Amino acid sequence: MKKKLFSGIQPSGDVHLGNYLGAISNWVRLIDSYDCFFCIVDYHAITIDYKPESMQQRILNAAAANIGAGLDPDKCTIFVQSQVPEHTELAWILNSVISMGHLERMTQFKDKSMQNKGNINVGLFTYPVLQAADILLYKGEVVPVGEDQIQHIELAREIARKFNNKYGGTFPEPQEFLTEVPRIMGLDGKTKMSKSLNNYISLVESPDSIWKKLASAVTDENRKRRNDPGNPEICNIFTMHKGFSTQEQIEEIRSSCATAEIGCVDCKKMLHENMVRELTPIREKSNELIDDSDYLYGVLKRGAERCKDIAKETMGLVRENMGLSSLKDC
Ligand code: ADP
Repeated sequence: MKKKLFSGIQPSGDVHLGNYLGAISNWVRLIDSYDCFFCIVDYHAITIDYKPESMQQRILNAAAANIGAGLDPDKCTIFVQSQVPEHTELAWILNSVISMGHLERMTQFKDKSMQNKGNINVGLFTYPVLQAADILLYKGEVVPVGEDQIQHIELAREIARKFNNKYGGTFPEPQEFLTEVPRIMGLDGKTKMSKSLNNYISLVESPDSIWKKLASAVTDENRKRRNDPGNPEICNIFTMHKGFSTQEQIEEIRSSCATAEIGCVDCKKMLHENMVRELTPIREKSNELIDDSDYLYGVLKRGAERCKDIAKETMGLVRENMGLSSLKDC
């Protein structure tokens, strides 16, 4: 029996290079080694203001981009969170095992509260508990995520441990799994690349549009003139090279940037070439799938059916361990 792997993505905007380099590339890499569950987490996405009429298309876009990137639906389970009601049911239960203090320490809540001052809703606060429920419902042991999610996975571990201590062994303690580049900054070089901050390159962007964005992207700000030596370790372009370029190219840039042999424009051109080579088949496949919504809905329906069976089984065990089963079984 393969170990269970769980991860999610919000349908809150375009899938971007941060998602790809921080998480999706690992999903594709691990697809044969684990029993994989990939969830489009629409209940998470509603914690930020959105237009209801755009949600279905965003869900389809997320599915198309992920399948285009290599998530073969015959090898993994892809589904939409709200199609499996047990996610929110388990979240309610887990709300009762974790303290307010734990949630108050979550930096993502603090960041998102700053970014969404007009809508600091309770869902935004309890977001990590729903995330723990997402993972634990499938007894997920491995969770490939970007660096921004490490704190939430630590909390999921804490929740699993507390539940097991209180009600008996039920859940495994999930572990995060990171890529070589777990944190991609936005094009401004200051904040994390994010769907909601409009500082991103999308996974399905055209080569011209990618170049326009790369050309104006912030590099090492101390490098003012072409002849100034650069520090690749603090440059977001170099971080992206680590995701798209060969080891040889990375080493070459590392040394030639520090000695000013290569300028930022040439470094960006090299990155652009490598990015376009890797992303073109993903864009083409994704665009093809977007035109076939019947296929995408079929994949998501099949995924949800498998998940519903597993979720029912886990919830049966949870209720039994908590002494909640007898009335339900009458
Ligand atoms: P977003 O923050 O863009 O809304 P999601 O919350 O949907 O992204 O995250 C989906 C996955 O992508 C998560 O595993 C998350 O850690 C990862 N991720 C998101 N942004 C980045 C980034 N800038 N760098 C690395 N990984 C990221």
